[in-house]
Amino acid sequence: MGRLRGSYPLTSGGSSHRPRTAAGTAAGRALKGWCPACGKGRCFRGLTEFVDACPSCGIRLGSADVGDGASWFIMLVVGALATGGAFALDAWLRPPVWAHALIWTPVILGATIGLLRPVRALLLASHVRHGLLDDDRKPDVG
Ligand SMILES: [Zn+2]
Repeated sequence: MGRLRGSYPLTSGGSSHRPRTAAGTAAGRALKGWCPACGKGRCFRGLTEFVDACPSCGIRLGSADVGDGASWFIMLVVGALATGGAFALDAWLRPPVWAHALIWTPVILGATIGLLRPVRALLLASHVRHGLLDDDRKPDVG
């Protein structure tokens, strides 16, 4: 039976063997595609996939379980903005439906794909900062 996520106590300092990186520093490094912990190794392989481990400091970035968090957040934000934009454009210019499709399809696809990597990077930085990677987790007690 695997370890349960809720069984790990949250600590204020993350891993005991790794100094805690400042939130802004970790986020800035991850947004640039660098390891949030050390800022030296690359954290992405391809568009959105994390590398298994940082080639510089060895932190197991591939164990970050960010799930669908980035996708859901982007879907909510982009969906709300695109819907509002479509209503505003329709009220202003009254374009035909095919024009809406021509305008909003690339806008939605571009925004969604364009935001996926930065939002995943921010989630990765949060995981590193809070010690949620596999090698940061404390063993089961008892
Ligand atoms: Zn690193």
